[in-house]
Amino acid sequence: MNIHEYQGKEIFRSMGVAVPNGSVAYTPEEAVEAAKTLDSSVYVVKAQIHAGGRGKAGGVKIAKSLDEVREYAKELLGKVLVTHQTGPEGKEVKRLLVEEGCDIQNEFYIGFVIDRATDRVVLMGSEEGGTEIEEVAAETPEKIFKEVIDPVVGLMPYQARRLAFNINIPKESVGKAAKLMLSLYNVFTEKDCSIVEINPLVTTGEGSVLALDAKVNFDANALFRNKDIVELRDKDEEDPKEIQASKYDLSYVALDGNIGCMVNGAGLAMATMDTINHFGGRPANFLDVGGGATTEKVTEAFKIILGDEGVEGIFVNIFGGIMKCDVIAEGVVEAVKNVGLEIPLVVRLEGTNVDRGKEILEQSDFDIIPASTMAEGAKKIIEAVNQNK
Ligand code: ADP
Ligand code: MG
Repeated sequence: MNIHEYQGKEIFRSMGVAVPNGSVAYTPEEAVEAAKTLDSSVYVVKAQIHAGGRGKAGGVKIAKSLDEVREYAKELLGKVLVTHQTGPEGKEVKRLLVEEGCDIQNEFYIGFVIDRATDRVVLMGSEEGGTEIEEVAAETPEKIFKEVIDPVVGLMPYQARRLAFNINIPKESVGKAAKLMLSLYNVFTEKDCSIVEINPLVTTGEGSVLALDAKVNFDANALFRNKDIVELRDKDEEDPKEIQASKYDLSYVALDGNIGCMVNGAGLAMATMDTINHFGGRPANFLDVGGGATTEKVTEAFKIILGDEGVEGIFVNIFGGIMKCDVIAEGVVEAVKNVGLEIPLVVRLEGTNVDRGKEILEQSDFDIIPASTMAEGAKKIIEAVNQNK
């Protein structure tokens, strides 16, 4: 789960990670009020969306007066910001962070990530702050330094200092930077994060070390024990189809292809997507209806798939193990009755009561294309979609 920069900074502040003073605003008036509380003559008005690259896209404005704060707030609120992370459709700005302008001397990058190769949390750092870390990794990998953290003892102070020296944080600021990294590690572990990234971490003219940006992702599997984090969820930032799916306990991820997939089991869903891809098609989604797919769930899954305007055909690929194929077939027919169907539908069933399942599909009033194997199903749906064009 993702949160906004201002929310990340509130967590940082509460756990001893230094950040500039500032607060959230939903209107230009609130932005001015927020600026008034700051002991500064330079304010920064920052668009809050779940994506980085805002600076380059014009989403970070430096204001020298309260009037300018109001003007920039008006300009940004309601604007659709397109950054390299939002995709071409961009994201509408609905919240702003108004914070103190900092006298930046140097920009650095630091981040905590989980390294699956070593099964450890790794602290990464670079003196190339402000630029995309992926670019640094590709062009000047020697400028990225890492400290692998032993989970038993946690991040050790000497490791934090070593990283600070390696990325050329000025000597007089190394102590502060190390302290910030240690506090940030606590954020990472206590809040069950999957990524914590500060880009840029800055040293200022007054000698402080501050997190100027905050990207924080949480492990969704640990949200049950972080109720305070769940409250930070901003559904405006999520795909409405994915929200709807989560209500019905369906695992759904929207993709940009044209063949909607409805499958039971995550592994089979992945294999189905691979098979469609293999035969030259493009899956429109990942959708796992789970083990106990009821008619209601199947209907909802159909609605969600059909809610995606890019879908030109549906491939249902179900293995009836715990679920019986006849129950699934009834669910599919019922769902089609409820939702209607104007695009090709291929159904492949396998497993318990498969013959009865196939019969139900055949006897239905709908033009459901049967398939016996996954490959056949994938080929048939691709063909049907192409013929419709
Ligand atoms: P993004 O990563 O989405 O572009 P950042 O929060 O990193 O957004 O801001 C982009 C740039 O704007 C930073 O690299 C920094 O140079 C500048 N900036 C951001 N916040 C402040 C601030 N409070 N004071 C001064 N400059 C800032
Ligand atoms: Mg940034």
